[in-house]
Parts: sequence; structure tokens; C-alpha cells
Amino acid sequence: MTKNWPDIERKYFMSTFKRLPIVLVRGEGVRVWDEEGKSYLDMVAGIAVNVLGHGHPAVVNAVADQAKKLIHVSNYYYSIPQLQLAELLVENSCGDRVFFCNSGAEANEGAIKLARKFGKIHRNGAFEVITVSGSFHGRTLATIAATGQAKFQEPFMPMPAGFKNVPFNDIEAIKRETTPLTCAILIECIQGESGVHPADPQYIKDLRRWCDEQGLLLMLDEIQTGMGRTGKFLAYENYGIEPDVFTMAKGLGGGVPIGALVARESAACFTLSDHGSTFGGNPLACAAGVATVEHILNNGIVDNARIMGELLLSGLRSLQAKRSIVREVRGVGLMVALDLQQDKAHQLVDSALSKGLILAATGPSTIRMVPALIIAKTDIEEAISKLDEVLAML
Ligand SMILES: *Cc1c(COP(=O)(O)O)cnc(C)c1O
Repeated sequence: MTKNWPDIERKYFMSTFKRLPIVLVRGEGVRVWDEEGKSYLDMVAGIAVNVLGHGHPAVVNAVADQAKKLIHVSNYYYSIPQLQLAELLVENSCGDRVFFCNSGAEANEGAIKLARKFGKIHRNGAFEVITVSGSFHGRTLATIAATGQAKFQEPFMPMPAGFKNVPFNDIEAIKRETTPLTCAILIECIQGESGVHPADPQYIKDLRRWCDEQGLLLMLDEIQTGMGRTGKFLAYENYGIEPDVFTMAKGLGGGVPIGALVARESAACFTLSDHGSTFGGNPLACAAGVATVEHILNNGIVDNARIMGELLLSGLRSLQAKRSIVREVRGVGLMVALDLQQDKAHQLVDSALSKGLILAATGPSTIRMVPALIIAKTDIEEAISKLDEVLAML
């Protein structure tokens, strides 16, 4: 290493991240390189962020061109990339209006604020948002309160008020907990952080019907599932329903930080000064977003995610048949998880890394794969064969 980066991290950085012992300096397509020049097949892609892989010319050129023209202006003025990206998102979804921010948590914060405003206008001041167990909605105070996992909340009690958490895939629980104070339901169609757990199709349909009957907003967190990851541009398309509100981030800028809150006209109740963001809709991030969304929609990337996802899943199923340590495999498109019989996920990630394969553990016994959507058949085959080797060593 050019410097002892781990020591520098220990000295200067808040210790919130458990790092794997590599220093990444470069990437191209589905591969990244460390300081020593060793290459890795990246099945994590910045946690579902680098949807077009690393160094994709569409993203690189858009960022470079925009940087030369205008990196940032405030939202006091019109700027073109922001409006182009808003148009693209609306024309390719059920949404009518967009608000841009800088991350997933911030997009969900915006959704929660929007739901409260909606409750004030349409439901006598209702402000409660119902969320489900095993969900993940971000790390700000409101979004950890929305997240249905105690470990994210415990060090920071008390939580902000206005959230109710109920079991996942249980429509009766939602109905039981809906009161005159409820304004919205916030949910992921396919839970990502907790290990790729898809909602039952009937559950999502029932949720849609319940929200319609009760006048509640159905808000979908598409931060991880959006951008084609599940074999559809947005995951709700797999379920045959449309939400009132959805949030995006992760892959939206092809690696550049950006978030979006999208709402149908009936839910888009923010008016002048209700919400804002200094960096939100920044020209650089939005130019990256335009390039990424256009490339995904115009080059069959969504279909590639579906086809490669099926290939990856069937490869994992054959490993499951062969290696008894594999308990279960799950996936929709290129959002895939593998459960082990024992708590050896971190060990598996470590040995995969030494074989040049980047995986992520989402729990003691669960591995998640969310590779770039441009991944090819030969890359999938390489991932499966390396995984087979490391499974044999466990
Ligand atoms: C990653 C993620 C978030 C949080 O996004 P950040 O950009 O880290 O704030 C929220 N919801 C889901 C479903 C996510 O996967």
C-alpha cells in the first residue's frame, strides 16, 4: 500500500464501517482493482449503486461534460439536467411530479413529510406512517424510526413519534393498526437490506386496495429495487399496481449521489417552501441521472437484468443442490440472496475476496448480490464457479 490506509482510518475516521482489507482505486465494468493491482469481480456494485458498472462511458462523459459547463447552481434558478431527469422519471413511471435530493434516506424523509402534509389536508391531521418488520428506509432519525429493525434504533432512543411497525406480508396487521391517525403506508416491494425478501403479490394488491378504501397513501421505497434491478424499471411493475408515492436513490445517478421523491398528482401536495435542498437537483448529479436512466431504458438493460438474474438464480440453485451448507436462495432480477445453514456469511465474504470475488453479507448467515445490470453471462459463470470454490472451503 502507498500508505497504511487502515491506520489512517483508525486514527481519523469515525468507526462506523466494518471494512474488508482492500483499498479500491479503479473500476471498469463489473470489475474493480485494488492498490496492488489485483482485480475483483464486483457482485455488490456499491450496494446496488453502480447500475451501469464502473466507468461506464455514458456516465463518465455526462459527468465530465456537465462539470465543464456548470457543477452547481441553487434552486433559485432553472437548470436543465434537473428538468430533463424529472421528465424522464415521470414519462417512465406512474408518477406526475418529482422532488430531487441527495440520498435514499433524504428521499424517504421527503416522502414522510409529504404524507404528513397529505394527512393534514385530506385526513384531519393524520400523521402516522405504518411500516413493516425487516424493512430498511435509511439512517436519519425519521427513517430509522420507519425502519422495522430494532438494532438501528436502540442506540438512539427515543424515536421520533408517528410510526407504527407491523409484521411483513400480513394485511390483517395493517388493517388492525390503521386508525384515524394513519396517513400512509411505506414499504419495499422487495426488502433489500434484510436479505432480499419479496412481498407476496396478493399482499401488495391488498395494500393497494386498503389504501384506496381508507384514503391512505401507498408509498413504495424503490431506492434499491428501482432502475431496472428487478427486471422492470420499477419493482411495482412486477406487482400490477401503482403507488401514490415512490422514492429512488442508489442507482439513479449511476454512482453519483442523488435521490428522488416521485408522487402522483393526487399526492403531490407540497407547495411553495414546504420542502427544499441545497444540493437537491444539482446539475452534475442530474446529468449523471439523465445519462444513466436513458442508457438503461434505451439499451435493453432492464431485460438484461431479468435474464442475467434468472441465470444467477439458477446457478445458485445448482450450488444449493450440490453444497448442503446452502440453505436457501432467493431473488428477483439482479437482487439475489443466499442463506447459509450456519453463521458463516462473513467468513464466506472474506474467502471470496481472496479469490477475487466481491460479495456482501447482510446478516450472519445471509449473502446478498446486487451486481451491475450490465453484467454478462460469462461474469455470472465466473461468480458461480468462484462461489462454488469458496463454499467447498467453508
Ligand atoms: C439504501 C437504502 C436506503 C437508504 O439510502 P441512503 O442513500 O443510504 O440514505 C433506503 N431504503 C432502501 C430500500 C435502501 O436500500
